[in-house]
Amino acid sequence: MSPSPLMPVEEAIARLLAMAEAQRLQDSEPVALGEARQRVLASDLVATLDLPPWPNSAMDGYALNLDGWDGQPLAVSQRIFAGQAPEPLLPGSCARIFTGAPLPPGANSIEMQENVEQLDDGRVRFKQPLKAGQNIRAQGQENRAGQVLLRAGKRLGPFELAIAAAQGCTHLPLVRRPRVALLSTGDELAEPGTPLRPGCIYNSNRTLLSHWLSALGCEVIDAGILPDQPQQTRLRLEQLQCAADLILTTGGVSAGDADCLGQVLRECATPVFWKLAIKPGKPLTVGRFGRVPVIGLPGNPTSALVTFGLLARPYLLRIQGVEEVMPLSFPVSVGFDWPKAGSRREYLRARLEEGRAVLYPNQSSGVLLGASWADGLVEILEGSTLRAGEPARFIPFSELF
Ligand code: AMP
Ligand code: MG
Repeated sequence: MSPSPLMPVEEAIARLLAMAEAQRLQDSEPVALGEARQRVLASDLVATLDLPPWPNSAMDGYALNLDGWDGQPLAVSQRIFAGQAPEPLLPGSCARIFTGAPLPPGANSIEMQENVEQLDDGRVRFKQPLKAGQNIRAQGQENRAGQVLLRAGKRLGPFELAIAAAQGCTHLPLVRRPRVALLSTGDELAEPGTPLRPGCIYNSNRTLLSHWLSALGCEVIDAGILPDQPQQTRLRLEQLQCAADLILTTGGVSAGDADCLGQVLRECATPVFWKLAIKPGKPLTVGRFGRVPVIGLPGNPTSALVTFGLLARPYLLRIQGVEEVMPLSFPVSVGFDWPKAGSRREYLRARLEEGRAVLYPNQSSGVLLGASWADGLVEILEGSTLRAGEPARFIPFSELF
Protein backbone atom coordinates (compact mmCIF):
# COMPACT_ATOMS: atom_id res chain seq x y z
CA MET A 1 0.00 0.00 0.00
CA SER A 2 1.47 3.40 -0.92
CA PRO A 3 1.51 5.92 1.90
CA SER A 4 -1.29 8.49 1.79
CA PRO A 5 -0.03 11.88 0.58
CA LEU A 6 0.74 14.48 3.23
CA MET A 7 -1.74 17.32 3.59
CA PRO A 8 -0.39 20.77 2.66
CA VAL A 9 -0.24 23.29 5.50
CA GLU A 10 -2.75 25.67 3.83
CA GLU A 11 -5.34 22.95 3.51
CA ALA A 12 -4.93 21.93 7.14
CA ILE A 13 -5.37 25.55 8.23
CA ALA A 14 -8.45 25.89 6.00
CA ARG A 15 -9.97 22.76 7.56
CA LEU A 16 -9.22 23.95 11.07
CA LEU A 17 -10.79 27.34 10.34
CA ALA A 18 -13.88 25.70 8.84
CA MET A 19 -14.16 23.62 12.01
CA ALA A 20 -13.71 26.79 14.07
CA GLU A 21 -16.51 28.60 12.21
CA ALA A 22 -18.92 25.86 13.26
CA GLN A 23 -17.60 26.07 16.81
CA ARG A 24 -17.73 29.85 17.35
CA LEU A 25 -18.41 30.80 20.96
CA GLN A 26 -21.67 32.66 21.33
CA ASP A 27 -21.67 33.71 25.00
CA SER A 28 -20.27 37.00 26.14
CA GLU A 29 -19.51 38.49 29.56
CA PRO A 30 -18.63 41.94 30.91
CA VAL A 31 -14.96 42.08 31.87
CA ALA A 32 -13.05 44.85 33.68
CA LEU A 33 -10.41 46.55 31.51
CA GLY A 34 -7.70 45.30 33.86
CA GLU A 35 -8.62 41.70 33.04
CA ALA A 36 -9.38 42.16 29.35
CA ARG A 37 -5.95 41.97 27.74
CA GLN A 38 -5.66 39.35 24.96
CA ARG A 39 -9.41 38.77 25.08
CA VAL A 40 -11.83 39.38 22.22
CA LEU A 41 -14.53 42.04 21.97
CA ALA A 42 -18.02 40.52 21.66
CA SER A 43 -19.77 43.60 20.23
CA ASP A 44 -18.71 46.86 18.58
CA LEU A 45 -17.36 49.56 20.88
CA VAL A 46 -19.26 52.74 19.96
CA ALA A 47 -17.97 56.12 21.14
CA THR A 48 -20.14 57.96 23.64
CA LEU A 49 -17.80 60.99 23.65
CA ASP A 50 -16.27 63.26 21.06
CA LEU A 51 -12.50 63.10 21.49
CA PRO A 52 -11.23 65.54 22.36
CA PRO A 53 -14.50 66.59 24.02
CA TRP A 54 -13.68 70.29 23.39
CA PRO A 55 -11.04 72.18 21.40
CA ASN A 56 -7.81 72.39 23.38
CA SER A 57 -4.25 73.51 23.18
CA ALA A 58 -1.50 71.34 21.68
CA MET A 59 1.18 73.63 23.17
CA ASP A 60 2.20 75.71 26.12
CA GLY A 61 1.61 79.21 24.76
CA TYR A 62 -0.91 81.96 24.19
CA ALA A 63 -4.44 81.83 22.75
CA LEU A 64 -5.76 84.79 20.80
CA ASN A 65 -8.30 85.86 18.21
CA LEU A 66 -6.73 86.73 14.86
CA ASP A 67 -9.88 88.37 13.46
CA GLY A 68 -9.37 92.14 13.37
CA TRP A 69 -6.04 91.90 15.24
CA ASP A 70 -3.31 94.25 13.95
CA GLY A 71 -0.36 92.20 15.20
CA GLN A 72 0.37 94.54 18.12
CA PRO A 73 1.31 93.23 21.61
CA LEU A 74 -1.64 91.98 23.70
CA ALA A 75 -2.47 92.01 27.41
CA VAL A 76 -2.86 88.60 29.07
CA SER A 77 -6.40 88.42 30.47
CA GLN A 78 -6.47 84.86 31.94
CA ARG A 79 -4.34 81.79 32.60
CA ILE A 80 -5.82 78.43 31.61
CA PHE A 81 -4.39 75.13 32.80
CA ALA A 82 -5.49 71.65 31.71
CA GLY A 83 -8.52 70.65 33.74
CA GLN A 84 -9.92 74.19 33.99
CA ALA A 85 -12.98 75.68 32.30
CA PRO A 86 -11.95 78.98 30.66
CA GLU A 87 -13.82 82.30 30.50
CA PRO A 88 -14.57 83.72 27.04
CA LEU A 89 -11.55 85.63 25.74
CA LEU A 90 -11.73 89.35 26.52
CA PRO A 91 -11.62 91.38 23.27
CA GLY A 92 -8.19 92.85 22.56
CA SER A 93 -6.42 90.38 24.88
CA CYS A 94 -4.81 86.96 24.77
CA ALA A 95 -4.88 84.08 27.27
CA ARG A 96 -1.91 82.23 28.70
CA ILE A 97 -2.69 78.57 27.94
CA PHE A 98 -1.03 75.24 28.65
CA THR A 99 -1.05 71.91 26.83
CA GLY A 100 -4.40 70.15 27.10
CA ALA A 101 -6.24 73.23 28.43
CA PRO A 102 -9.58 74.07 26.76
CA LEU A 103 -9.49 76.85 24.20
CA PRO A 104 -11.35 79.90 25.55
CA PRO A 105 -14.46 80.81 23.53
CA GLY A 106 -13.54 83.59 21.12
CA ALA A 107 -9.94 82.46 20.51
CA ASN A 108 -9.02 80.94 17.15
CA SER A 109 -5.25 80.50 17.24
CA ILE A 110 -2.50 79.50 19.66
CA GLU A 111 1.13 80.56 19.49
CA MET A 112 3.78 78.47 21.24
CA GLN A 113 5.53 80.25 24.08
CA GLU A 114 8.94 80.06 22.38
CA ASN A 115 7.69 82.50 19.70
CA VAL A 116 6.33 85.03 22.18
CA GLU A 117 8.23 87.78 23.99
CA GLN A 118 7.19 89.07 27.44
CA LEU A 119 7.28 92.89 27.56
CA ASP A 120 8.08 94.89 30.71
CA ASP A 121 4.53 96.26 30.85
CA GLY A 122 3.11 92.71 31.17
CA ARG A 123 1.89 92.48 27.57
CA VAL A 124 3.23 89.87 25.13
CA ARG A 125 4.59 90.41 21.64
CA PHE A 126 4.09 87.81 18.91
CA LYS A 127 7.31 87.46 16.95
CA GLN A 128 5.99 85.62 13.88
CA PRO A 129 2.89 85.68 11.66
CA LEU A 130 0.13 83.34 12.91
CA LYS A 131 -2.44 81.15 11.16
CA ALA A 132 -6.03 80.57 12.26
CA GLY A 133 -6.40 77.15 13.95
CA GLN A 134 -2.71 76.60 14.58
CA ASN A 135 -1.80 74.52 17.64
CA ILE A 136 -5.49 73.85 18.33
CA ARG A 137 -6.71 70.28 18.65
CA ALA A 138 -10.23 70.47 17.25
CA GLN A 139 -13.15 68.92 19.11
CA GLY A 140 -13.77 65.41 17.71
CA GLN A 141 -10.54 65.35 15.69
CA GLU A 142 -9.90 61.79 16.91
CA ASN A 143 -13.47 60.55 16.91
CA ARG A 144 -17.08 61.65 17.12
CA ALA A 145 -19.70 60.27 19.52
CA GLY A 146 -21.58 57.47 17.77
CA GLN A 147 -18.56 56.36 15.75
CA VAL A 148 -17.57 52.67 15.88
CA LEU A 149 -14.12 52.64 17.46
CA LEU A 150 -13.48 48.88 17.65
CA ARG A 151 -15.31 46.10 15.84
CA ALA A 152 -16.60 42.90 17.44
CA GLY A 153 -13.90 40.27 17.03
CA LYS A 154 -11.06 42.67 17.82
CA ARG A 155 -8.38 41.22 20.08
CA LEU A 156 -7.65 43.66 22.84
CA GLY A 157 -4.14 44.84 23.57
CA PRO A 158 -2.90 47.90 25.44
CA PHE A 159 -3.87 50.25 22.56
CA GLU A 160 -7.49 49.06 22.35
CA LEU A 161 -7.90 49.06 26.13
CA ALA A 162 -6.60 52.63 26.26
CA ILE A 163 -9.13 53.62 23.57
CA ALA A 164 -11.91 52.15 25.76
CA ALA A 165 -10.53 53.93 28.84
CA ALA A 166 -10.53 57.25 26.94
CA GLN A 167 -14.29 56.78 26.52
CA GLY A 168 -14.66 56.26 30.27
CA CYS A 169 -15.37 52.53 30.02
CA THR A 170 -14.62 50.35 33.04
CA HIS A 171 -15.83 47.09 31.48
CA LEU A 172 -16.17 45.66 27.99
CA PRO A 173 -18.40 42.89 26.65
CA LEU A 174 -16.03 40.06 25.76
CA VAL A 175 -16.41 36.66 24.16
CA ARG A 176 -16.22 34.06 26.90
CA ARG A 177 -12.93 32.26 27.26
CA PRO A 178 -12.55 29.02 25.31
CA ARG A 179 -12.12 26.15 27.78
CA VAL A 180 -9.20 24.04 26.66
CA ALA A 181 -8.42 20.71 28.30
CA LEU A 182 -4.67 20.24 28.11
CA LEU A 183 -3.48 16.66 28.20
CA SER A 184 0.12 15.45 28.03
CA THR A 185 0.65 11.85 26.96
CA GLY A 186 3.64 9.64 27.55
CA ASP A 187 4.75 6.98 30.05
CA GLU A 188 8.07 8.82 30.27
CA LEU A 189 6.66 12.08 31.58
CA ALA A 190 7.08 13.37 35.12
CA GLU A 191 5.86 16.69 36.45
CA PRO A 192 8.48 19.11 37.77
CA GLY A 193 8.66 18.74 41.53
CA THR A 194 8.41 14.95 41.41
CA PRO A 195 11.46 12.62 41.33
CA LEU A 196 12.76 11.67 37.91
CA ARG A 197 12.74 7.89 37.52
CA PRO A 198 15.25 6.27 35.13
CA GLY A 199 14.23 6.74 31.51
CA CYS A 200 11.88 9.60 32.27
CA ILE A 201 11.88 13.32 31.41
CA TYR A 202 10.05 16.28 32.84
CA ASN A 203 6.91 17.50 31.13
CA SER A 204 7.76 20.78 29.42
CA ASN A 205 4.88 20.89 26.92
CA ARG A 206 2.32 21.45 29.66
CA THR A 207 4.07 24.64 30.78
CA LEU A 208 4.69 25.80 27.21
CA LEU A 209 1.09 25.37 26.20
CA SER A 210 -0.70 26.46 29.35
CA HIS A 211 1.06 29.85 29.20
CA TRP A 212 0.50 30.15 25.49
CA LEU A 213 -3.19 29.23 25.82
CA SER A 214 -3.65 31.87 28.53
CA ALA A 215 -2.01 34.44 26.25
CA LEU A 216 -4.61 33.55 23.61
CA GLY A 217 -7.46 34.22 26.04
CA CYS A 218 -8.17 30.57 26.88
CA GLU A 219 -9.07 29.01 30.19
CA VAL A 220 -6.86 25.98 30.71
CA ILE A 221 -8.24 22.82 32.24
CA ASP A 222 -5.16 20.90 33.30
CA ALA A 223 -5.94 17.29 32.46
CA GLY A 224 -2.56 16.01 33.63
CA ILE A 225 -0.44 13.27 32.15
CA LEU A 226 -1.91 10.27 30.40
CA PRO A 227 0.00 6.97 30.18
CA ASP A 228 0.43 5.33 26.78
CA GLN A 229 -2.54 3.03 27.31
CA PRO A 230 -5.48 2.86 24.85
CA GLN A 231 -8.15 2.02 27.44
CA GLN A 232 -7.22 4.93 29.69
CA THR A 233 -6.84 7.25 26.70
CA ARG A 234 -10.38 6.51 25.53
CA LEU A 235 -11.75 6.92 29.04
CA ARG A 236 -9.98 10.25 29.61
CA LEU A 237 -11.19 11.69 26.30
CA GLU A 238 -14.74 10.63 27.23
CA GLN A 239 -14.43 12.37 30.60
CA LEU A 240 -13.08 15.56 29.07
CA GLN A 241 -15.50 15.94 26.20
CA CYS A 242 -18.21 17.57 28.31
CA ALA A 243 -15.88 19.91 30.19
CA ALA A 244 -14.02 21.48 27.29
CA ASP A 245 -14.49 23.37 24.03
CA LEU A 246 -11.29 21.77 22.80
CA ILE A 247 -9.07 18.91 23.92
CA LEU A 248 -5.45 19.77 23.20
CA THR A 249 -2.99 16.95 23.59
CA THR A 250 0.72 16.45 23.08
CA GLY A 251 2.47 13.24 22.12
CA GLY A 252 1.28 9.82 21.05
CA VAL A 253 0.15 10.71 17.54
CA SER A 254 2.97 9.26 15.43
CA ALA A 255 2.94 5.75 14.08
CA GLY A 256 4.90 4.04 16.88
CA ASP A 257 3.56 1.17 18.98
CA ALA A 258 3.20 3.42 22.03
CA ASP A 259 1.39 6.18 20.12
CA CYS A 260 -2.03 5.18 21.32
CA LEU A 261 -3.64 8.62 21.33
CA GLY A 262 -3.43 8.66 17.54
CA GLN A 263 -4.79 5.11 17.39
CA VAL A 264 -7.73 5.99 19.62
CA LEU A 265 -8.44 9.14 17.63
CA ARG A 266 -8.38 7.25 14.37
CA GLU A 267 -10.72 4.59 15.83
CA CYS A 268 -13.12 6.69 17.88
CA ALA A 269 -12.99 10.22 16.52
CA THR A 270 -14.24 11.74 13.30
CA PRO A 271 -10.93 12.49 11.60
CA VAL A 272 -10.34 15.91 10.15
CA PHE A 273 -6.79 15.13 9.15
CA TRP A 274 -3.67 13.25 10.06
CA LYS A 275 -0.16 13.71 8.68
CA LEU A 276 0.84 17.11 7.38
CA ALA A 277 3.45 18.22 4.91
CA ILE A 278 5.23 20.14 7.67
CA LYS A 279 8.57 19.78 9.43
CA PRO A 280 8.63 19.65 12.35
CA GLY A 281 5.12 18.46 13.17
CA LYS A 282 4.11 15.89 10.55
CA PRO A 283 2.00 13.69 12.91
CA LEU A 284 -0.37 16.54 13.91
CA THR A 285 -3.78 14.88 14.23
CA VAL A 286 -7.12 16.66 14.30
CA GLY A 287 -10.49 15.05 14.83
CA ARG A 288 -13.75 15.28 16.71
CA PHE A 289 -14.31 13.01 19.70
CA GLY A 290 -18.06 12.99 20.20
CA ARG A 291 -18.88 16.69 19.92
CA VAL A 292 -15.57 18.06 21.09
CA PRO A 293 -12.70 18.83 18.71
CA VAL A 294 -9.34 17.30 19.52
CA ILE A 295 -6.06 18.76 18.34
CA GLY A 296 -3.32 16.20 18.89
CA LEU A 297 0.06 17.92 18.73
CA PRO A 298 3.22 15.86 18.33
CA GLY A 299 5.20 15.38 21.54
CA ASN A 300 8.57 16.82 20.60
CA PRO A 301 8.60 20.27 22.16
CA THR A 302 9.50 22.13 18.98
CA SER A 303 7.01 20.13 16.91
CA ALA A 304 4.35 21.05 19.47
CA LEU A 305 5.47 24.67 19.38
CA VAL A 306 5.42 25.00 15.59
CA THR A 307 2.10 23.21 15.07
CA PHE A 308 0.43 25.00 17.96
CA GLY A 309 1.63 28.41 16.73
CA LEU A 310 0.81 27.91 13.07
CA LEU A 311 -2.32 25.72 13.23
CA ALA A 312 -3.93 25.53 16.67
CA ARG A 313 -3.56 29.27 17.31
CA PRO A 314 -5.65 30.37 14.29
CA TYR A 315 -8.31 27.86 15.36
CA LEU A 316 -8.43 29.19 18.92
CA LEU A 317 -8.66 32.79 17.75
CA ARG A 318 -11.36 32.05 15.18
CA ILE A 319 -13.66 30.30 17.67
CA GLN A 320 -13.46 33.58 19.62
CA GLY A 321 -14.59 35.47 16.53
CA VAL A 322 -11.24 36.95 15.46
CA GLU A 323 -11.02 37.56 11.70
CA GLU A 324 -7.29 38.22 11.36
CA VAL A 325 -5.91 34.94 12.63
CA MET A 326 -2.81 34.49 10.51
CA PRO A 327 0.48 35.89 11.81
CA LEU A 328 2.17 38.72 9.97
CA SER A 329 5.22 37.53 8.08
CA PHE A 330 7.71 39.24 5.82
CA PRO A 331 10.52 38.31 3.46
CA VAL A 332 14.08 38.30 4.73
CA SER A 333 17.25 37.20 3.04
CA VAL A 334 18.59 33.99 4.41
CA GLY A 335 22.07 33.78 5.87
CA PHE A 336 22.54 30.14 4.91
CA ASP A 337 22.45 27.75 1.96
CA TRP A 338 19.59 25.27 1.69
CA PRO A 339 20.80 22.95 -1.06
CA LYS A 340 18.43 20.01 -0.63
CA ALA A 341 14.74 20.47 -1.41
CA GLY A 342 12.39 18.77 1.06
CA SER A 343 8.95 17.30 0.46
CA ARG A 344 7.52 19.04 3.55
CA ARG A 345 7.29 22.74 4.37
CA GLU A 346 10.02 23.42 6.84
CA TYR A 347 10.08 25.88 9.72
CA LEU A 348 13.52 26.71 11.07
CA ARG A 349 14.34 28.59 14.25
CA ALA A 350 16.25 31.68 13.22
CA ARG A 351 17.50 34.99 14.46
CA LEU A 352 17.57 38.19 12.44
CA GLU A 353 21.07 39.60 12.29
CA GLU A 354 21.53 42.70 10.08
CA GLY A 355 18.27 41.78 8.33
CA ARG A 356 19.48 38.23 7.52
CA ALA A 357 18.01 35.07 8.99
CA VAL A 358 20.66 33.07 10.82
CA LEU A 359 19.82 29.52 11.91
CA TYR A 360 20.08 28.04 15.38
CA PRO A 361 22.78 25.37 14.94
CA ASN A 362 20.63 22.49 16.23
CA GLN A 363 17.29 22.31 14.41
CA SER A 364 16.24 19.01 16.06
CA SER A 365 12.57 19.02 16.98
CA GLY A 366 13.47 17.81 20.47
CA VAL A 367 15.48 20.96 21.22
CA LEU A 368 13.57 23.76 22.91
CA LEU A 369 16.50 26.11 23.52
CA GLY A 370 16.56 27.15 19.86
CA ALA A 371 13.11 28.73 20.21
CA SER A 372 14.30 30.98 22.99
CA TRP A 373 17.47 31.87 21.09
CA ALA A 374 15.54 32.64 17.89
CA ASP A 375 13.39 35.62 16.88
CA GLY A 376 11.04 33.48 14.84
CA LEU A 377 10.62 30.92 12.09
CA VAL A 378 12.02 30.92 8.57
CA GLU A 379 9.65 29.17 6.19
CA ILE A 380 11.18 26.98 3.49
CA LEU A 381 8.60 25.93 0.94
CA GLU A 382 8.34 22.31 -0.07
CA GLY A 383 10.49 21.47 -3.09
CA SER A 384 12.60 24.62 -2.83
CA THR A 385 16.32 25.24 -2.44
CA LEU A 386 17.97 28.47 -1.36
CA ARG A 387 21.33 30.16 -1.54
CA ALA A 388 22.53 32.63 1.04
CA GLY A 389 21.12 36.07 0.22
CA GLU A 390 17.94 34.75 -1.38
CA PRO A 391 14.57 35.61 0.18
CA ALA A 392 12.36 33.46 2.42
CA ARG A 393 9.40 34.36 4.61
CA PHE A 394 9.99 35.02 8.27
CA ILE A 395 7.34 34.72 10.98
CA PRO A 396 8.36 36.53 14.18
CA PHE A 397 7.49 34.61 17.35
CA SER A 398 5.97 37.82 18.72
CA GLU A 399 3.24 37.40 16.08
CA LEU A 400 2.23 34.06 17.53
CA PHE A 401 1.08 35.25 20.95
P1 AMP B 1 5.70 11.34 20.89
O1 AMP B 1 5.09 12.37 19.99
O2 AMP B 1 4.81 10.87 21.97
O3 AMP B 1 6.29 10.22 20.08
O4 AMP B 1 6.94 12.07 21.60
C1 AMP B 1 8.01 12.54 20.83
C2 AMP B 1 9.12 12.98 21.73
O5 AMP B 1 8.67 14.08 22.50
C3 AMP B 1 9.58 11.95 22.72
O6 AMP B 1 10.97 12.06 22.84
C4 AMP B 1 8.89 12.34 24.00
O7 AMP B 1 9.59 11.92 25.14
C5 AMP B 1 8.87 13.84 23.89
N1 AMP B 1 7.75 14.39 24.62
C6 AMP B 1 6.45 13.98 24.53
N2 AMP B 1 5.67 14.67 25.35
C7 AMP B 1 6.47 15.56 25.97
C8 AMP B 1 6.23 16.55 26.95
N3 AMP B 1 5.00 16.76 27.43
N4 AMP B 1 7.28 17.29 27.39
C9 AMP B 1 8.51 17.07 26.89
N5 AMP B 1 8.79 16.16 25.97
C10 AMP B 1 7.79 15.39 25.50
MG1 MG C 1 4.85 9.45 23.38
